[in-house]
Amino acid sequence: MARLSDLFNLNLSDVTKKTIVEYIWVGGSGRDLRSKARTLPGPVTDPSKLPKWNFDGSSTEQAPGEDSEVILYPQAIFRDPFRRGNHILAMCDCYTPTGDPIPTNKRHAAAKIFSHPDVVAEGPWFGIEQEYTLLQKDVSWPLGWPVGGFPGPQGPYYCGVGADKAFGRDIVDAHYKACLYAGINISGVNGEVMPGQWEFQVGPAVGISAGDQLWVARYILERITEVAGAVLSFDPKPIPGDWNGAGAHSNYSTKSMREEGGYDVIKKAIEKLRLRHKDHIAAYGEGNERRLTGKHETADINTFSWGVANRGASIRVGRDTEKAGKGYFEDRRPASNMDPYVVTSMIAETTLLWKP
Ligand code: ADP
Ligand code: MN
Ligand code: MN
Ligand code: MN
Repeated sequence: MARLSDLFNLNLSDVTKKTIVEYIWVGGSGRDLRSKARTLPGPVTDPSKLPKWNFDGSSTEQAPGEDSEVILYPQAIFRDPFRRGNHILAMCDCYTPTGDPIPTNKRHAAAKIFSHPDVVAEGPWFGIEQEYTLLQKDVSWPLGWPVGGFPGPQGPYYCGVGADKAFGRDIVDAHYKACLYAGINISGVNGEVMPGQWEFQVGPAVGISAGDQLWVARYILERITEVAGAVLSFDPKPIPGDWNGAGAHSNYSTKSMREEGGYDVIKKAIEKLRLRHKDHIAAYGEGNERRLTGKHETADINTFSWGVANRGASIRVGRDTEKAGKGYFEDRRPASNMDPYVVTSMIAETTLLWKP
């Protein structure tokens, strides 16, 4: 009898051109991911060639039961590392049948900002550092932690190696390669300060593509942890007390920042971000107040600050950028559970379109 994995890995291209497309969308909480698959007659290489589709929005808290249809518009496609072959993942956003974006569709407004001529001209790049925590499935307690107890204090775990310091590396590395396979510009991974916590980075990615790539990278991680039997948490402070929280530092540059004289442009952008600190914090993730305490390499949520090489500031400029007089900066405020469509478009809007 064939083993399950043999069937799972069946190479369909031996017998048919048919292509499986996994339609992915952000669910009703604005943080959960949903997906479903359909068969198309042949390979597709352009998202605009994919048919629109629909789902039952009353089951995802995205539509009332009496008018439950939500329409999926495919926006970006990636190779499917699970099915391989010609099969693809399609990141979608959600609309009513009459063509209006539904409230949880944050991509629509973001894409508008990123298609504004003044924003396009500045070619905004993002590099997002996605931190996350792996939990033991049945006890919701971090991987590698003794059930009912705590590991030794933080110190040996950040970028650590060894069975007593790194927990879940098989998941991390499977995800790293799966993202590269998919065509996501994942730039690296590392073990984090809290044991069981990890980070991957997506970028540099231009404009709306940063959000698409980060959401699909999250999706792939959910699928891998599903197979591995671990639970993926994006909670910004999974364990209260003397344990680091999880963020999504957002590195950012524009064409003018990357060119000669860029440091002055960076300082002006940071000043605008200071003026809109409250608005940004409100959009930077749920529960972020538990994380941004001023301790554990964070700045206090109520106080805006910036500095060169300062990991206790809201915004950090790297030494390299200061020295070169051009480059990029890091917004350290976004929480791990933030919506990258919201955060990236808001940074672009504040720094490129907003007039104080
Ligand atoms: P940290 O030193 O804060 O841990 P990381 O190395 O984890 O930073 O992440 C930095 C991210 O910034 C990477 O994804 C990288 O690709 C991205 N990045 C590099 N240069 C730029 C740039 N000019 N503009 C935007 N993002 C950039
Ligand atoms: Mn990092
Ligand atoms: Mn980190
Ligand atoms: Mn960082």
